[in-house]
Amino acid sequence: MSKPLSDHDRKKQISVRGLAGVENVTELKQSFNRHLHFTLVKDRNVATKRDYYFALANTVREHLIGRWIRTQQYYYEKDPKRVYYISLEFYMGRTLQNTMVNLALENACDEAMYQVTHTHYTKMCDIEMGSRSKKACFLDSMASLGLAAYGYGIRYEFGIFNQKIVNGWQVEEADDWLRFGNPWEKARPEYMRPVHFYGRTEHHPDGVKWVDTQVVLALPYDTPVPGYRNNVVNTMRLWSAKAPCEFNLKDFNVGGYIQAVLDRNLAENISRVLYPNDNFFEGKELRLKQEYFVVSATLQDIIRRFKVSKFGSREIARTDFSKLPDKVAIQLNDTHPAMAIPELMRVLVDEEKLSWEKAWDVCVRTCAYTNHTVLPEALERWPVDLFAHLLPRHLEIVYEINRRHLENVAAKFPGDSDRLRRMSLIEESGQKRINMAHLCIVGSHAVNGVAQIHSDILKATIFKDFYEMEPHKFQNKTNGITPRRWLVMCNPGLAEVIAERIGEDFIRDLDQLQTLRNYLNDEGFIRDIAKVKQENKLKFAVHLEEHYKVKINPNSMFDIQVKRIHEYKRQLLNCLHIITYYNRIKKEPNKHWTPRTVMIGGKAAPGYHTAKMIIRLITAIGEVINNDPVVGDRLKVIFLENYRVTLAERAIPAADLSEQISTAGTEASGTGNMKFMLNGALTIGTMDGANVEMAEEAGEDNFFIFGMRVDDVDALEKKGYHAQEYYNRLPELKQAIDQIAGGFFSPKQPELFKEIVNMLMHHDRFKVFADYEDYIKCQEKVNELYKNPKEWTKMVINNIAGCGKFSSDRTITQYAREIWGVEPTLEKLPAPDV
Ligand SMILES: *Cc1c(COP(=O)(O)O)cnc(C)c1O
Repeated sequence: MSKPLSDHDRKKQISVRGLAGVENVTELKQSFNRHLHFTLVKDRNVATKRDYYFALANTVREHLIGRWIRTQQYYYEKDPKRVYYISLEFYMGRTLQNTMVNLALENACDEAMYQVTHTHYTKMCDIEMGSRSKKACFLDSMASLGLAAYGYGIRYEFGIFNQKIVNGWQVEEADDWLRFGNPWEKARPEYMRPVHFYGRTEHHPDGVKWVDTQVVLALPYDTPVPGYRNNVVNTMRLWSAKAPCEFNLKDFNVGGYIQAVLDRNLAENISRVLYPNDNFFEGKELRLKQEYFVVSATLQDIIRRFKVSKFGSREIARTDFSKLPDKVAIQLNDTHPAMAIPELMRVLVDEEKLSWEKAWDVCVRTCAYTNHTVLPEALERWPVDLFAHLLPRHLEIVYEINRRHLENVAAKFPGDSDRLRRMSLIEESGQKRINMAHLCIVGSHAVNGVAQIHSDILKATIFKDFYEMEPHKFQNKTNGITPRRWLVMCNPGLAEVIAERIGEDFIRDLDQLQTLRNYLNDEGFIRDIAKVKQENKLKFAVHLEEHYKVKINPNSMFDIQVKRIHEYKRQLLNCLHIITYYNRIKKEPNKHWTPRTVMIGGKAAPGYHTAKMIIRLITAIGEVINNDPVVGDRLKVIFLENYRVTLAERAIPAADLSEQISTAGTEASGTGNMKFMLNGALTIGTMDGANVEMAEEAGEDNFFIFGMRVDDVDALEKKGYHAQEYYNRLPELKQAIDQIAGGFFSPKQPELFKEIVNMLMHHDRFKVFADYEDYIKCQEKVNELYKNPKEWTKMVINNIAGCGKFSSDRTITQYAREIWGVEPTLEKLPAPDV
């Protein structure tokens, strides 16, 4: 058992937010005033809050520049193997606080800002625009582990839409996040690349030419990615589409100069907007263009960097591409960048004149693929017709990859024609389609799922044939989150309380949280943990009351489910519990009921009708329950509007209970589950995704597990799932469904939810009713424990202590060693002079 720190030691050790030294503060103030004057062209009388934010952002940015340049110089000199993480979901924003945390500038900036503007900088952070993609965690860890890594994606002009709730319905608004400019990005027009589309192929004796193409330029914007206090600054490079100057002007069949200039928009639409679908494939040409656009531009960049590297060719007369896999690892985040495989083949074979065999060996050893879902509707299967039109050469290459692949399958499994059909990259039934997951598996040396259970399901189900063919390719990399953003930044109070006991090395090495188990019987620690939670709840309650004009009981259990709205995530199961609890209170209003504030938030894909109806149902339930005087403040239901990273950062530290209730076998991993656990919420969850490993790390006794396991779900599917049986057998379930169906929650439109009820009763793919009974029982156990705050908090401590595994530092370390062939380092680069 480690000795608690003395008060003196504590003060010395606690610099979670960095030190606010006098020189530091003075320099920051000067820089801030300089930027307000010279960069923003404002004086203090007319400066707005946004001006202050931009002046501060520019001030903090200055501290990055030297480190950024030095890091890139260092990579050039040392020429380590580079890691390229390609994702269609990267986008930026909210970099200020993250940068301050990683550069240990938070306290100093706070002090400087307070002295200059009499405003705390956290107020300024409110106006930070845009939200970051999930993969921001990985970028943070790659920089913090000193990997020579790059994030590549698209610089969408419009990110994920903003969600408004109007009369209980979701309404989408465009996210014009670049309107005020982005102080973090730097355009690099000197590295612009041409990307080709359409055209046709010509087969000559000396190779294939792709001709008569239309060209769109890819203009890179770089954003710095600082590591945690190690002076490393990596690059996220996002491509923006630009029409070439001569766009359409050479065509004689267009309406002349004015029309040609107006038509530039058509080309530039490629990077206009992020497709907002979650776990759903929409086979639109523009989306395929986006996917090829990022892949083509990124590969040109990768190959250019390889060629100019010491290793690539500066010391060798001719570029030796057989060395590419020693110097480059490409990670495909889902199948969205799958075109990297045929594109790399096209470059190596058609342009660099490698033999097919040599090129294929290079390609497979360079690329690796991460699968994120097993839901069939999410798997990318592009129609061959669309491909033939947009990327004719790539279609030929895919056919050749497939021909050789099927030869190998036939050699290993002779006479198994059904296996050949199943494993083909080309689906022949109905409209001919290319199965992008199959392409990724064949073209990669590693294929991974994102939680153990998910990786096992891949091998046993959708990729079974491929596993039997090449078992060595299949791996697991359980997801993780960065403790910098999801603890230090969003919950500084909790970070401090932990640091007071065990020092602050856990921020770099989250496994150290284990030592918190030494404090399980430390009354002071239990009190501190409970106090931080209460403070976070009060803060969030104030925010909610301002926002939603409802009175929140801060002593109620904050029961939160925030994630994209999807049938498989089963927000409807949560709704059924809420209604059941409501009916119980109404039936026995004088009994002691554990007070709950249930919050549900998340965006529905704009075209996903059922998801939008689920939101409407949640708001309808809230309207009835929140206005029922019998219930009072013992049950409130709030739909959290516009759930995004900034809202997650407020809500999650305030949560008592985390709802992770997907049907077993459907959620690949989840990362929200980990954020809640790290922030001191208990989880009620199914044995799905990373929940399984979280329960193991916390100890199953410290986890509210309920419902069917994957095997149970499969058995029920085989036997036949009949929702009516549960409806007939469980009176409280029947009552809840009858209320929804009968217009109890929609008295003005009694029929409003008949589609939802019909779905639940007759074609529910996710078997909500089958888990209802166990879920309700498990929620009763949650209520019981909540009545005993000390036992509750002890369980919380057990959960926090088990979080080490879920650091993205651990995830990235495993990718680095087991897939990319690079070794992470915790060594620091030297600090720059400035
Ligand atoms: C972490 C996060 C998610 C992922 O949540 P899951 O519960 O794992 O689906 C989604 N949206 C936002 C804004 C997040 O921060």
